[in-house]
Amino acid sequence: MDKQTKVALVTGSSRGIGRACIIEFAKSGFDVVINYVQSENLANELKEYVQTNFGIRALAIKCDISNEQQVKQMVETTISTFGKIDVLVNNAGIEIAKPFEEKTVEHWYKTLGVNLVGTFIVSKYCSKYMLDNHYGKIINIASDSGIDSFSPFSMDYNASKAGIVSLTHDLAIQLQPHINVNCVAPGWVNTDINSKFDNEFLEEQTNNVCIHRIARPEEIAKIVLFLSSDESRYINGETIKVDGGKQ
Ligand code: NAD
Repeated sequence: MDKQTKVALVTGSSRGIGRACIIEFAKSGFDVVINYVQSENLANELKEYVQTNFGIRALAIKCDISNEQQVKQMVETTISTFGKIDVLVNNAGIEIAKPFEEKTVEHWYKTLGVNLVGTFIVSKYCSKYMLDNHYGKIINIASDSGIDSFSPFSMDYNASKAGIVSLTHDLAIQLQPHINVNCVAPGWVNTDINSKFDNEFLEEQTNNVCIHRIARPEEIAKIVLFLSSDESRYINGETIKVDGGKQ
């Protein structure tokens, strides 16, 4: 095993921002772990793509990040294959957009269970190995709506993302001094999570973005890559909004 090659595990990475992160890591020579929960075909296609185009090693692992037993298994498989985890990107997330009157307790538990508790579980199991190694970078994907919430249709989602901002501070303190924990809070990004919104609504939203367009997933992934590098070593416990400027 090549000790110099870094290993990045990205949750929910068969598509969208997670997929873009996997491609950025692969381009930079990282071995990668693609985590998926449903889209096995997409995950395997991505695995093939990065192995063929960038000559790195890749694993695709099915795991529901809100299930502790499955997370434990995913982390053990990663360690038995690569021997370490240098970078964890807690990217997997869900949003159940519904009017207040239709929101249920189950929606809240489901959303918090995946977005917030899932981020905690994966961080807990991966950080054990980072602590042993005296090295690690954890990047959590929150949302600008966890900082300035603007959508009552997604109050559970917004609360879960605010929780991730808070969890980021606490993990940075808990895992000091060798592990950096930071958070990226994107605004609107062109991915499937927004397919539930109609075009007119999305068009209206881009009018509030100072650069007048929605982000491409790669624009988030490049910030994640920077936070995974030693060039950003002195950024810690921080949340960086990447939303094109909101007015
Ligand atoms: P997406 O829906 O394409 O990606 C989310 C991924 O998470 C999917 O691959 C999905 O299968 C996976 N996932 C969901 N539940 C999971 C679970 N229990 N276990 C493992 N994987 C699971 O959307 P995206 O925009 O790429 O979202 C990535 C992250 O970015 C999410 O955390 C999302 O909240 C955040 N985000 C997105 C936007 C945006 O506008 N697209 C804005 C702010 C934040």
